[in-house]
This record gives sequence, structure tokens and C-alpha cells, in this order.
Amino acid sequence: MNLSDNEFIRYSRSLMLGDDALERQLRLRQARVLVLGLGGLGCPVASTLVSAGVGALTLIDGDVVELSNLPRQQLYQTNDVGKPKAEVAAARLRQHNPHPQLQVLQCRLNDEALREAAEVCDVLVDCSDNLPTRLQLNRLARETGKPLFAGAVSGASAQLYLLNRHSACYQCLVDPDWQVLQNCRSMGVDPALVTLTAQQLAWLLLQYLQASADQIAQAVPFGQANQIPFGQANPVPFGHASSIPFGHYGRFAASGNHIGFHWYPLQQDPGCTCCGVSSAPEGEV
Ligand SMILES: [Zn+2]
Repeated sequence: MNLSDNEFIRYSRSLMLGDDALERQLRLRQARVLVLGLGGLGCPVASTLVSAGVGALTLIDGDVVELSNLPRQQLYQTNDVGKPKAEVAAARLRQHNPHPQLQVLQCRLNDEALREAAEVCDVLVDCSDNLPTRLQLNRLARETGKPLFAGAVSGASAQLYLLNRHSACYQCLVDPDWQVLQNCRSMGVDPALVTLTAQQLAWLLLQYLQASADQIAQAVPFGQANQIPFGQANPVPFGHASSIPFGHYGRFAASGNHIGFHWYPLQQDPGCTCCGVSSAPEGEV
């Protein structure tokens, strides 16, 4: 397996990033990512993954483009208003880079259909804007054992959370009966903050997708990484998965001399009906 001449030229600047750059590019080409939600977060995440050379994307969204989407959702043009988001997004992404395989699911999926889509992907990315969808994808991530990368932005607040089979799950953090979700429809939203959050998510995804199994196995757990001095490659050597903060959530803050995401460990709820002791079938602990 190698890159074509065309791919070598297209990705030539990425291929300058270290001795293992070709291996990392090839790992990225092998990866399939599910992106649920093609709004303010999903558009830049999908766009960056496709630009960078991901192998395949499953794009899921049941909405049509609205005029009020356009300040943040840059895959759509004014004359796309009223058209299905997933189809328009896929067409733009194909124009940009014809190499990645794109699967389009222009609908809201039931559990079975979403599980089928999730099972063939390496990573699930939650860019949705409503609580039932977040809980649905969280549950399927837990059941299929797939890592879940998620972002949420409303008002002037932005959060990311990265979960895997060893960490707390999203349901540990929220009350599933919580009916009122604060989203950009009710709270407004800052377009640049959405893009910045999406790019932080995309950067983490690319770090993860390009890491080898050995690099992931040998990674320094996030939170202990500050024992390692910064090298010349600031902030971290590219493709080194010690920077993947699974089991943490990141909150955007601009204060003092720091602008960016502050990361905090997540606590698992032993009573969680999704991942806790009470979710295990009878007889299991
Ligand atoms: Zn849980």
C-alpha cells in the first residue's frame, strides 16, 4: 500500500512533518470516521478530515440548510438554503478532495441503523445539537466500544469531551430526563468560537487516527503529560497520542495569559444506566 503520485503532491506539506509522516498519512487513509451532525461543528470537522486525507467518512444529518446556518456552516452557500445538508456537504467535500469515500445518510437514524453505521467506523464524532441524539450516540459508542469525540457550543461557551470504553460516558454527566438543552437556537452562538472548537476536535482526531497501535499503547496518560518538557515541536510532536485526553472534558476559556481549552477529568457515575454497575446484565458485575 502506498500513495499515488497525485496523493504525494496533494499531501506533500503533511508528508514533511517527521520521519514517520508517510506511515501516518497511510494510517489516516485507512481510517473511517462517522460524523453525526453537519452544522457549525460538523462542517469544519468533516472538511478538515477530508482535506487531510482521511480514508472514508460517514456523514449523517437529517436537516436542510437554513439561512441562519450560513454564518457558521461554511460548506453551504446562499443558494443551498432548503437543500439537504448531508448531500450538499458531501458534494462540496468531493469537489475539494475526490479521494476519500463518502457515505451520506440524509436522515435521523434509529438505533439499529446508527449501530450499523457505527460498527464499521474507527471513531464516532458527535457534532449534533440535541440531547436525545447525544445520548443515543453515547450509548452506541459504549455498546460498540468505539471511541467518541464530541463537541458542543452555545452562547459564548464551548466544550469538548473524549470518551472510550475505559472512561466515564456522556450519560454519567447529564440527567437523561433533562428536557431543556441549551443550544444555539435558544442561546445564540459565536461563529468563530464554533470553528475554533471544531478545529480543536479535528486536531485531536487527526492525532488519534494517525497514531500507531504501539504509540497508543505506550502513550503517557493525559494529565501526566506535563511531566514531559516541551520539545522544539511545539506544542507536541505530531502524531504522538499522549495528547489524546480520553476520559476528560475540555472547556474553552479566555482568561489571564491563557486562551484555549482547559481539560478536566470526568468521573464515572457507578449508578449510570449506560456504563455503570447497574447497566451490567444480571449476574455480571
Ligand atoms: Zn455512564
